[in-house]
Amino acid sequence: MGTNPTDDRRTTTAPATDDRFAVPLRGVAVDAETRCAHWDSAVDVVALRFGCCAAYYPCDACHEAATDHEAEPWPRDRFDEPAVLCGACGATLTAREYLDGDGEAQRASSSEGQSPSGNRASPGDSRAKPDDSEAQRASGSRTQSSDDACPRCDAAFNPGCRAHRDRYFES
Ligand SMILES: [Zn+2]
Ligand SMILES: [Zn+2]
Ligand SMILES: [Zn+2]
Repeated sequence: MGTNPTDDRRTTTAPATDDRFAVPLRGVAVDAETRCAHWDSAVDVVALRFGCCAAYYPCDACHEAATDHEAEPWPRDRFDEPAVLCGACGATLTAREYLDGDGEAQRASSSEGQSPSGNRASPGDSRAKPDDSEAQRASGSRTQSSDDACPRCDAAFNPGCRAHRDRYFES
């Protein structure tokens, strides 16, 4: 196992982009599946696109290191455009696809009788379980968290990313 692709770590700063990826991407010590110097567990295979420069970064610390401007979250009026990269299979997801996993359960349980239209109460925010992800990650189980997985290749995503969604997606 001498040639594990995840051992290939590259640091790319603006204006260069990492040519291993089909989308413009940069960051610090990025491996072939978009893990970075800051987020490096088995499930840290998501790169997020930023509104300020429309490039993808494994995390906001990578953005900070690779550019010299203030990070801006992906704007809500562009949620139907690709804004999330799965480092495992290279697929891009729209912000809506990525974030929808979060809303699905919510919607299913509260669909009846609610007056739905136009109400933007940001439902995901009520659940605060900060440290569960750690345990979940350790156990390697993703049975109840299919939400936090790539819809294309089923790679597990770090559920913690969504806890920081306000950094990455305009709310
Ligand atoms: Zn930027
Ligand atoms: Zn990073
Ligand atoms: Zn994938």
